[in-house]
Parts: sequence; C-alpha cells; structure tokens
Amino acid sequence: MTVLFWDIDGTLLTTLRAGMVAWNASVRELTGRDFDLKTELRSAGLTDYQIALKTFETLDLTPDTETLDRLVRRYEELLPASLPLKNGYVLPNVREILEHLRDRADVRSYLLTGNTRGGARAKLTHFGLVDFFDEGAFAEDAGPRSTIATRALDLARRGGSVADDAIFVIGDTPHDIECARAIGARTIAVATGGYTLEELQAHDPWRAFPELPQVDQFVSLLGVRRSNEGRPAARGSVSA
Ligand SMILES: [Mg+2]
Repeated sequence: MTVLFWDIDGTLLTTLRAGMVAWNASVRELTGRDFDLKTELRSAGLTDYQIALKTFETLDLTPDTETLDRLVRRYEELLPASLPLKNGYVLPNVREILEHLRDRADVRSYLLTGNTRGGARAKLTHFGLVDFFDEGAFAEDAGPRSTIATRALDLARRGGSVADDAIFVIGDTPHDIECARAIGARTIAVATGGYTLEELQAHDPWRAFPELPQVDQFVSLLGVRRSNEGRPAARGSVSA
C-alpha cells in the first residue's frame, strides 16, 4: 500500500489569504486589539495553534491553553464566511490527481495539515475537495508539526500495512519537508505556496517541482503502476 499525506494550504489550494480575514477578526474579538496576520507573521507552514501562539506573543500576551483554543475555535466559526471574500482556487493538477487516486485500491490519501480539523473541513468543503479525504491528522495543540505527522502515520498503519519506501508527504514549505523526514517519508515539494523552488530545494526534499506534476508524471513518481489495471473493474458489474 502506498500512502500519501497531503498538506492543504499552498499544496491543494490557495485561499488567497481569505482565512486571514477570519483570523484577524477572531483576534480582535478576543483581545480587543487590531492585528494583521499578513504583515505580522510569516505563517506558511506553521500550524494554526502555532500561529495562535505567535499571534498572542506579537501582542505581548501570554495565552493559556484555553485561550489558544478559544481563538482557534472562533476562527473555525468565522472561516466559512470569509473564504468567499477572495477568489481562491484549487491548485494545478490537484483535482485530476485526486480523482485518479480515488479510483485506485493501491494508494490511500490522508490529510496531514497544520489546519485544525474544523478549519480543514471548511476549506476543503468550500473548494469541493472534501469528499476526496476520509481521514487525516490535524493541529490539536501548539506542538511541532512532526507530532501531527506521527499521528498521521499511526492512522495510515491502522488502515493496513505500509512499506517504508511507499510513504509520501506532499507539501509546499520547509516545515512539510522536516515533518516528512521525522517519519521517514519522502517529500514531494511544490512551490505553489509560500516558498520558492530554490528555497524548498535548500531543504533537500526527495523531489521538488514548480507545481504539482500532471497525473501520469505524479503517478510514476510514486512507483505504482500507471493505470487501474488489476483492480476489480466496475465495468460489467451489477452496480456499474
Ligand atoms: Mg502548506
């Protein structure tokens, strides 16, 4: 079984920072202070909880766990209404690849994201990608992204045996590359988010591309057969 762990922002889609509108509004509600995530933090690759922690630090506040939770929960609530404010989009070749993979029995896709579960669901629902993912590992606290990767790997292993050389992380930041390394996975890095190809290559990912390759090239990277041959065919079956 080949397992793919997908990052969301800058990898599957871009919200064009629409999420920041919800974030800034949540900060204002909770602290009474003006905050602009875009100018105050380089948030790409940080988890939502890490962004929450840095947000409070920027405002010279020391949050407890409950306060971090409150900010993140409010952001999740405001996010669905803020996503339509910008013309975000699904990144090149993503939908085609996910549609191809959905029909394969030998490759499983999971989310491995610094979004919270609620934030991930809001974004994937808005962009029509939610049905491609059954499960995943999400940010649950301000701990390192590698702990999310460990949970993702546990999740995948519970679903069946996984060869060590058949685990891939697809992401757009050095944080994705580092978290892949932490679980012994190969990173397919894409420069469609907050980092350039050169910046990504400096972190020595397994492969790096300007954008996600087309389906055929992507599938051949994984070392799996190119088509669905050998899989029980729907054609001719009663349900077809
Ligand atoms: Mg990302």
